Amino acid sequence: MIAANIEKITQQLPAHVKLIAVTKTKPVELIQEAYNAGLRAFGENKVQEMVAKQPLLPADVEWHLIGHLQSNKVKYMAEFVHLIHSVDSLKLLQTINKEAAKHNRIIDCLLQVYIAQEDTKFGLSEDELLTLLQNINTNPLPHVRICGLMGMASNTDNQQQIEHEFKSLKNIHASVAGQLKQFTNINHHFTTVSMGMSSDYALAIACGSNMVRVGSAIFGNRN
Ligand SMILES: *Cc1c(COP(=O)(O)O)cnc(C)c1O
Repeated sequence: MIAANIEKITQQLPAHVKLIAVTKTKPVELIQEAYNAGLRAFGENKVQEMVAKQPLLPADVEWHLIGHLQSNKVKYMAEFVHLIHSVDSLKLLQTINKEAAKHNRIIDCLLQVYIAQEDTKFGLSEDELLTLLQNINTNPLPHVRICGLMGMASNTDNQQQIEHEFKSLKNIHASVAGQLKQFTNINHHFTTVSMGMSSDYALAIACGSNMVRVGSAIFGNRN
C-alpha cells in the first residue's frame, strides 16, 4: 500500500519538485518500506524521534527536521541532519552554526515564514526575516547555508485562503532572493520553497512550491 501511494504521488510531481516523506509517529518498518519503494528523504518533527530512527535505517537516508526546533536539541542531530526546515530565530541559527562547526559541517537551513492566519504556527514575518539576514550578513555564520523558505498554510478548507498564503510565501521568496544580492557575506543557495502537505500539495506546487512534505497520503492517518 505504501509503495502504491508513493507511486501515485510521485506520478503527479513535476521533476523540479522534491518529495519529503513525513515519517513522524511511524515505525521504522514502514519507513523502510518507503525506502524500498525508492524514497530517500524523510521528515521528522521531533529531534528525539529522528535521532532514535536514524541508526535503524540505511545511511543514505536524508533526514529533514520539519517541526519547531529548540536550540538545546540541535546538538543531537548536528552530525547527520540534511536540511532543517524550521529555523525561526537568530539564536537558533547561531546554535546550528556552532554545532555544525563541531562536526566540521555546513548545515543547510530553510527559514520558516509565518503565512497562516492562526496563532499557533511558528515562523518569521517578512520584516523579521530581513532583520535576521542583515544580522548574519554583519556577523557571518560560516557553518550554515540559507537554502530558502518554509511555510505552512492555515488549517482550513478554504482553498482561496490557502492559495493566498502559498502565493505570499512564493512572493516573499522572490523578493528576498533579489535582496540577497546585497548580502555578500551570507552563505546561501536560495532556491527552495518548502510548502504543501498531503491535503494541499497540488495547490502548493501550482503556487510555486518545489519541496512538498507529505505524511498521511503515504503512510495513512496518524492517531
Ligand atoms: C506532519 C507535518 C507534515 C505532513 O502532514 P500530512 O498532512 O500528514 O501530509 C508536513 N509538514 C509539517 C511541518 C508537519 O509537521
